[in-house]
Amino acid sequence: MPLVPIDEKQYSIKIDLKYGTLDNFTKNIIYKKPKLYLLDEAADALKRASDLAQAMGYKLLVWDGYRPLAAAQKLWDAVPDPRFVSRPDETGPLGHARGVAIDLTLLDEHGHTLDMGTAFDAFTELSYHKNIDVPMTVQRNRFMLLGLMKAAGWDFITTEWWHYQLPNLRSYPLVKDRYIDSLIMDE
Ligand SMILES: [Zn+2]
Repeated sequence: MPLVPIDEKQYSIKIDLKYGTLDNFTKNIIYKKPKLYLLDEAADALKRASDLAQAMGYKLLVWDGYRPLAAAQKLWDAVPDPRFVSRPDETGPLGHARGVAIDLTLLDEHGHTLDMGTAFDAFTELSYHKNIDVPMTVQRNRFMLLGLMKAAGWDFITTEWWHYQLPNLRSYPLVKDRYIDSLIMDE
């Protein structure tokens, strides 16, 4: 199962890989040459989700997809908390390192992010699905994203409103594509 490069135009989405910038919780650039990849099955599911978002006048903004294991290690070193970061070994779910997880939000027709109550990677219970301490508009926006992602074939996790993954996560092997990893990490 190959990794597929994801292009903004082809998928009608926006891409802003946060680990390719300083604007992430590690305050370091993790991807020296950020480029979005997903496993082919996940790429198809992203296209379905993008079509559903567009049908409502929205667009998907993607913050992360395939994440090399070396990058997962750096995130774990910064925040070793399994509620929010995958353990970089066989005990962690590591959806991103399997190429079947994605972090994203919705943009309105003006290109503004919908109010989801917290920023990406806000490691707080306010980021949990089913948290009703956030305003009603935030709950609606989150459930709209959840609904279209579920309909497109994605699964959610309880602790992060921005994270989706294909069902049966552990049936997908860790990718370990040294070539693509070196392209992203530039190491
Ligand atoms: Zn994620």
